[in-house]
Amino acid sequence: MTAIQFQLTPQAIWAALDTVPDPEIPVVSVTDMGMVRDVQIGEDGAVTVTFTPTFSGCPALHVIRDSIGQAVRDLGASAVEVKSTLTPPWTTDWIKEDARERLRQYGIAPPAPAEDGLIQLQADATRCPRCASFDVRMTGSFGPTLCKRLYVCDSCKEPFEGFKSV
Ligand SMILES: [Zn+2]
Repeated sequence: MTAIQFQLTPQAIWAALDTVPDPEIPVVSVTDMGMVRDVQIGEDGAVTVTFTPTFSGCPALHVIRDSIGQAVRDLGASAVEVKSTLTPPWTTDWIKEDARERLRQYGIAPPAPAEDGLIQLQADATRCPRCASFDVRMTGSFGPTLCKRLYVCDSCKEPFEGFKSV
């Protein structure tokens, strides 16, 4: 057994995961999106990371898994297991507050909170990320991936992508 070079802590692992970009949206990390659910360090130093993909139909699962594993190995972990779980399912409510603003600047409409009541949902309805108009309509069910929907703004006539609120 070789000695561990430094203390591997959950905090260090979370900090490393903060730098792992979402493969679909490079302006946010997997932790910004609330995907990382659990970090465990076993007595033998093996690390287990549990994550929930943003949408079960997302085609980037293996990319996320590889990126998380690499980030933890880069910290010097001897063994890394990356598990995905769909229970409880990911919700747009897990997206960090400051990440919503970056999503908007990137041109993706931040999703409306899924758990709130009707009034709240109307207040946070999908709006154009460019001109902030609510005068938008969906042009198709899905965007380039199953995670997003395509909209067009009737005010500035610009198309944009929005998340499905789940
Ligand atoms: Zn617009």
